[in-house]
Amino acid sequence: MTEQNNINTCISCNRDETVVPLVAITFSQNSTWICTQCLPTLIHDPQRLTDKFKDMTTENPPEPLN
Ligand SMILES: [Zn+2]
Repeated sequence: MTEQNNINTCISCNRDETVVPLVAITFSQNSTWICTQCLPTLIHDPQRLTDKFKDMTTENPPEPLN
C-alpha cells in the first residue's frame, strides 16, 4: 500500500501538490491537474502544452483563441 497515488502532480511541470497549489482541470474526458504557475501558460500559450495533452490520448489539441 502506497500513498503516492494520493499525490497529484502538475501536467506541465510535474511538481506535486506538496510543492505548488494544483488546480483540477479536465480535457477530453481526462481529468488532470495543473499548478497555478502553469495555468497562465495553458490560458495564453496552450500550444506549449499540446504534447502533454497528446500524452493523454487527446486527439484535438487546444488552439489559441486569437
Ligand atoms: Zn506546473
